[in-house]
Amino acid sequence: MAFVITSEDYTKYLAAAEKKLVDNKDYVTELDLATGDGDHWSNMNMGFKKLIENSDKLAELNISDEFKEIGKIMMSVIGGSSGVLYGSAYIGAAKASKGMEELDRDGLYAVLKAMLEAIMDRGQAKPGFKTMIDSLYPAVVEYGKCLDENVSDEKLCERVKTAAIDGANSTADMEAVKGRATYQADKGVGHLDPGAVTMSYQISVLMDTAKEKILA
Ligand code: ADP
Ligand code: MG
Repeated sequence: MAFVITSEDYTKYLAAAEKKLVDNKDYVTELDLATGDGDHWSNMNMGFKKLIENSDKLAELNISDEFKEIGKIMMSVIGGSSGVLYGSAYIGAAKASKGMEELDRDGLYAVLKAMLEAIMDRGQAKPGFKTMIDSLYPAVVEYGKCLDENVSDEKLCERVKTAAIDGANSTADMEAVKGRATYQADKGVGHLDPGAVTMSYQISVLMDTAKEKILA
């Protein structure tokens, strides 16, 4: 019982992620008001709205070209640090998936790993700096462990999702080393990092999408 994610599945994922984001508008905005400048939700929302507008076109592309197009859209539409970081992540994902027709579990791992590497390279932040990386990094590590342990795709989806959420929650105790939270006297301690939280939403919805494909 394995999953494969097609270009069309990925546009369905985008729609579900946009919904998750919209459902958490006030919460994410509050988090960025506490640690940054309050625009993180609206930045991400603008990006996702534009992706949804283009979803018919995106679904027709092969998966690598779809990622490239998503990267371009995110880079140009999302303001703030997240635009550049997500833009770079998707351009990295496009390179990692070149020549793949669809994503199986190894393909999705390659994509998430490439996204992590691109974000770390672009933003020069490491795990523990209280950023979006603190959700993506543990998710990628957990994904790798699941592959090593050869667990079922169902278990893999659940474990990666949990790692992303736990990772975002772990940012509450962290002192910011990168991003606007470094300007706060308390370095954001006591608050979750908004970028880590929205990253955990995206990974959660992605792994739910993959899990649904196992049952389909
Ligand atoms: P800005 O901080 O420019 O207003 P956003 O509010 O859209 O941009 O995004 C803020 C989020 O970006 C932070 O919560 C953090 O997760 C992430 N972030 C900021 N700087 C970096 C970086 N150098 N590397 C990784 N993530 C970062
Ligand atoms: Mg901001």
